[in-house]
Amino acid sequence: MLIAIDGSKFLAVNSRERSFTQDRLRQTIATLDERITKYLARLDAADKEETPRRTEDAALAAKIAAMSERLEESRVLLGYMEETNKNEISLTDPDSRRMIVGPVTEVCYNAQVAVDATSHLIVAAEVTNDPVDKEWLSTMALGANQILGKDGLEVVADKGYSSTSELKTCLDNGIVPYVPRPLTSANQKLGLYTKEEFRYEAGTDTYVCPARNALTFRFQAQEKGRPVRYYATQACDGCSLRSQCTRDKRGRRISWHADEAVLEATEQRLRVKPDMMLKRKSTVEHVFGTMKRWRDPRHFLMRGLENVRTEFSLTVLGYNLRRVLNLRSVLELVEAF
Ligand code: SF4
Repeated sequence: MLIAIDGSKFLAVNSRERSFTQDRLRQTIATLDERITKYLARLDAADKEETPRRTEDAALAAKIAAMSERLEESRVLLGYMEETNKNEISLTDPDSRRMIVGPVTEVCYNAQVAVDATSHLIVAAEVTNDPVDKEWLSTMALGANQILGKDGLEVVADKGYSSTSELKTCLDNGIVPYVPRPLTSANQKLGLYTKEEFRYEAGTDTYVCPARNALTFRFQAQEKGRPVRYYATQACDGCSLRSQCTRDKRGRRISWHADEAVLEATEQRLRVKPDMMLKRKSTVEHVFGTMKRWRDPRHFLMRGLENVRTEFSLTVLGYNLRRVLNLRSVLELVEAF
């Protein structure tokens, strides 16, 4: 049985103007300080003029008073955040968080769903204020598994869910994950071959490079408390592909650490079933699209994580009921109830 997992950001009842980070507050304080100093200088200059400008000066004084009030509020808020070691604070809904939504940052919750690829029903749902999906694969997969009570569950998710520990937890619980690896390689940014273009040969413990040369094991080092194995080849000297492969004078080196076995095995499963990502897309992406079409405005109505979770559960229930009515007649549904 295949389950597709995905997450989507829903706006919280908290405007961006009522959400602060320490950096943002420091920036605001510096800007207000600078403006107040500038306006005070203008007032001083006006005092020295022979013709009084009562209206302009009064307007300037009002501006300074308003900015001073905002400055004081910002200082108090920053002091509180430093004292309590909070990096972010939302004033209307304290549980909501700033999250990246497309090209902008909004104050949101992150809703997660696990959808059955056959019936397209939502099997498990969750709402979190974690801005990223990385740590949610196993929670959603185990949640779906518990509800379905089936052996041999397969789950598919996009690269945002790629995390060695999450993949391991799924495997330890008998769930087979399909999650592509994100390409975070520095070589990719430089336009050089990435590690994905080197094929590992388990039989010989070598990597085969794009020029079809074998990079053999050279040495093992301890990095961040874990063993890392390094592979290299002398064939880099005089290789016609070298300019596309490395800028290192010593030639190209490939590193491998223990956690990579899990990532590589996951990639291998995806290679064997290349249609998995297409199935993920067709199973789960329209769910959020449909839910967001229903919502106008497209944000939660409740405040606080627990209340928002309840609200989302009702949305999921509504979604599933509509879906069931597409699959079965009302009579069949009533009989089943
Ligand atoms: S530079 Fe070295 S690793 Fe890269 S393609 Fe050439 S031989 Fe292979």
